[in-house]
Amino acid sequence: MAVKIYIPTPLRPVTENNAKLDAEAKDVAGLLDELLGRYPALRGHILDDNGDISRFVSVYVNNEEIHSLQGKSTTLKDGDEVAVIPAMAGGAVPFTEDQIRRYSRHIILPEVGGKGQRRLLESRVLLIGTGGLGSPAALYLAAAGIGTLGVVDFDVVDLSNLQRQVAHHVHDLGRPKVQSAAETIHDINPDVKVVQHNTRVASDNIMEIIGDYDVIIDGCDNFPTRYLVNDACVLAGKPNVHGSIFRFDGQATVFAPGKGCYRCLFPATPPPGMVPSCQEAGVLGVLPGIIGVIQATEAIKLVLGAGEPLINRLLLYDALTMEFREVRIRRDTNCPICGDNPTIKELIDYEQFCGIGPAH
Ligand SMILES: [Zn+2]
Repeated sequence: MAVKIYIPTPLRPVTENNAKLDAEAKDVAGLLDELLGRYPALRGHILDDNGDISRFVSVYVNNEEIHSLQGKSTTLKDGDEVAVIPAMAGGAVPFTEDQIRRYSRHIILPEVGGKGQRRLLESRVLLIGTGGLGSPAALYLAAAGIGTLGVVDFDVVDLSNLQRQVAHHVHDLGRPKVQSAAETIHDINPDVKVVQHNTRVASDNIMEIIGDYDVIIDGCDNFPTRYLVNDACVLAGKPNVHGSIFRFDGQATVFAPGKGCYRCLFPATPPPGMVPSCQEAGVLGVLPGIIGVIQATEAIKLVLGAGEPLINRLLLYDALTMEFREVRIRRDTNCPICGDNPTIKELIDYEQFCGIGPAH
């Protein structure tokens, strides 16, 4: 029977840019054989490894999906129009064969699937800090196929970092951390576009930096930056996946817009000198691995809209006793930035707020 086949734009590079093809076939199976005979490169876009129509592709006969007809045995008559439509989100190109193989363990999860993997590939996640927390988060986010990973850091790789900052290697010593992290991310997954922000986030640049991202991961190591990231995320309405570590203890939570913030949890910083830094107090190298991977997990869940995010829940981890506990946290209606009557309406001087004085 003489039928027309409609080829959508993502598949046209394979059909010499033909949008409509004329073909002769008595049923859908025969038509696909004919089509693949003409354009063998279409096979990977339409069929799975078993030769069945891939789960990411729908075939329509006169606007009816063939599963509601007789599947591949659906008979065709003169003048029928058949459309082969791959799964798409926002005009994305279909998965390549390599992508289907790379992400197969995600794609078979009902909670992720082809649609979720597509979302991950289209998502933009920003890592503030590529140190202890940012490194493990970067590795897993890269492997998961986050489409764009922004990395912010102003530091260079030091030998003392390698005890926990697993995105950096011996050959990176002395190099900017963002460069070293970008290279590691690409070595894991060339699908990921890495945007390097080789700078220290500050009141005058953070709004512009975070504006481009869907999810912000706070992996910083000092109070002024923590409050800065918090306030910027509240003002920009961005989810902030928080992680912090100290010696053998870790904390993680998600501050979602309208659901409370770091200031609701800790309205003020401890006085300078009361809480030593990791440099002064030490940190078990594997600890940020646990917390950073929890942050990556939460970022992925936020992108997928899957499961129960760590919103209004502060997860506490003790590596020495190997215990996790969870406490509830709430939005404080009197919070100076996310409360009912906020007094902080723009970014402030965070060094001064934390009683540290200007950076030197
Ligand atoms: Zn708040």
